[in-house]
Amino acid sequence: MIEKRQFYINGNWSDPAQERDHQVINPSTEEPCAIITLGCDGDVDAAVAAAKAAFPDWMNTPPAERIALVEKLAKVYESRAEDMAQAISLEMGAPIDLAREQQTAAGAGHIAAFLAAAKEYEFEHPHDPDTPGSYIRNEPIGVAALITPWNWPMNQVTLKVVAAAVAGCTMVLKPSEESPLSSMVFAEMMDEAGFPPGVFNLINGDGAGVGTLLTEHPDVDMVSFTGSSRAGKLISKAAADTLKRVSLELGGKGANLVFADADDDAVKRGVEHCMNNSGQSCNAPTRMIVQREVYDKAVETATQVANSIKVGPASEEGDHIGPVVNEVQFNKIQDLIQKGIDEGARLVAGGVGRPDGLNRGFYVKPTVFADVNNAMIIAREEIFGPVLSIIPFDDEEEGIHIANNTPYGLTDYVQTQDPARAARVARALRAGMVEVNGQSRGMGAPFGGMKQSGNGREGGPWGIEDFIEVKSVSGYD
Ligand code: NAD
Repeated sequence: MIEKRQFYINGNWSDPAQERDHQVINPSTEEPCAIITLGCDGDVDAAVAAAKAAFPDWMNTPPAERIALVEKLAKVYESRAEDMAQAISLEMGAPIDLAREQQTAAGAGHIAAFLAAAKEYEFEHPHDPDTPGSYIRNEPIGVAALITPWNWPMNQVTLKVVAAAVAGCTMVLKPSEESPLSSMVFAEMMDEAGFPPGVFNLINGDGAGVGTLLTEHPDVDMVSFTGSSRAGKLISKAAADTLKRVSLELGGKGANLVFADADDDAVKRGVEHCMNNSGQSCNAPTRMIVQREVYDKAVETATQVANSIKVGPASEEGDHIGPVVNEVQFNKIQDLIQKGIDEGARLVAGGVGRPDGLNRGFYVKPTVFADVNNAMIIAREEIFGPVLSIIPFDDEEEGIHIANNTPYGLTDYVQTQDPARAARVARALRAGMVEVNGQSRGMGAPFGGMKQSGNGREGGPWGIEDFIEVKSVSGYD
């Protein structure tokens, strides 16, 4: 059993103010795999005080020096990639190859992309040539609370920590209590890279405790949050009294519009993307909206692809999906699959219950529903499991209407070989990101949503700007 009860505060691993043990459960076995501590107000006060004290020096550290430390972090991250992959795989159930090749690799990619963006970023620049001595300074906002989810833990942690550090903010990270181990490995990396004491601090805890304490804290200047829309609303309300800035990256219910002229791989690609990471991705294309002419064929292909996806323990190498993160999620997904059946959607793959031979562990069958109506619960709620809904449409206008008819607006997908249609539909979709024909955005592109998917944009210069206050100065030449 791993025991990791300490927090990283002011450059040291220190004992918590109170012993409040919390077991981390291995989702592949349902057995406890680690014990951590859930922090309390004393821990939050200590971490925030350390970040506040470190802020003036860090803010005035030349950007080139801050960037040089991120360069060191990139090297340390590379050297400890296997430790990171093992921690992620154990705590949240990602199969080890996925943990290595996608989860851990995403963190490395974000660090590299921020380094490129930071070198181009103008922290100070002239403003109006007609007003002598007028210039703009992009200054760090101050102490940032970073609150992250468990589903792609290093993706979110690196997107926030590196952007905040480059901007000149100091910070307190509170990772999800489901996935604390990877963040503790990351804290060791920050320490090894040599960030000054207090710039980066880590406290474990749950949302109701440490999460709320950080959000309400008068010395925290902003909250950068990734997680559910439910928690995003609570955080916005809790932050209101201190009027701190809140940057939100929330849930999604991605539409994947498959037009009749889509390429031959479009449906397979869509199913695999939906099921990747056991369906636990905010940007998963969970609603496949298919033009009537190719609908029957798409349902047949999706059924075959889902039935061919293997499910197994996270520790096993190879190409399969792992369990979902915990019992609450497992039960929620089972319940939603049953609701889909009850509402009259046609179950064509998977269904309730565990896959054959997997009696222990939070394993869910790759599930596909056809003939889904966009008003059904399975088309409206974020399921966060390997469950795909297929919805038919007749013409472009109807397809766009169904895609946009959701409270979410994170990532949508378009499959067509007609470039004019691709551009038209991409413009019409109310989502922060649109991917055409499986073409990925690339690491430094802005990641974020519209509507109830949030208001932040992470990655590249947009990610740095989330942590910036803009100051205009005019006067002496
Ligand atoms: P969650 O909202 O339950 O928890 C996320 C984090 O917030 C955790 O650290 C949790 O402890 C904390 N938290 C919960 N309630 C809080 C509160 N009231 N105050 C302060 N902190 C609180 O989400 P989750 O189950 O960990 O993650 C899954 C969700 O995250 C999904 O909805 C998914 O779509 C979303 N997500 C969004 C993005 C994005 O970039 N848009 C990326 C990944 C995940």
